[in-house]
Amino acid sequence: MTIRKCVICDICGKAGARARRVTRSYGRGTDLLVIEKVPVITCPHCGESYLTGATLHELERIKRQRKALAAKRPVDVANFDKYRGPNRVQRTPGSSDHTRPPSLKIR
Ligand SMILES: [Zn+2]
Repeated sequence: MTIRKCVICDICGKAGARARRVTRSYGRGTDLLVIEKVPVITCPHCGESYLTGATLHELERIKRQRKALAAKRPVDVANFDKYRGPNRVQRTPGSSDHTRPPSLKIR
């Protein structure tokens, strides 16, 4: 699997942008369609991440032909708004370790 392909960034024109494979979802409810391994170009120079025209074209094709192309798979779908509880701010003790200055020596 060649996911670490270097490409020229369409936005800033510099080499070194990377194609990442991500899972994207389209639509909602019974219309929901999940497409895996969508190549997203991420550029370390300008910080942009985008889909190429060819990818967008291909996604449109998949969406149009989803009945023929997509496999049915049982999938867990969660609703952020629905399941968000009242005590959603939970701080884990000790998680702020990285903010501590590096080892101060005490004599
Ligand atoms: Zn760029």
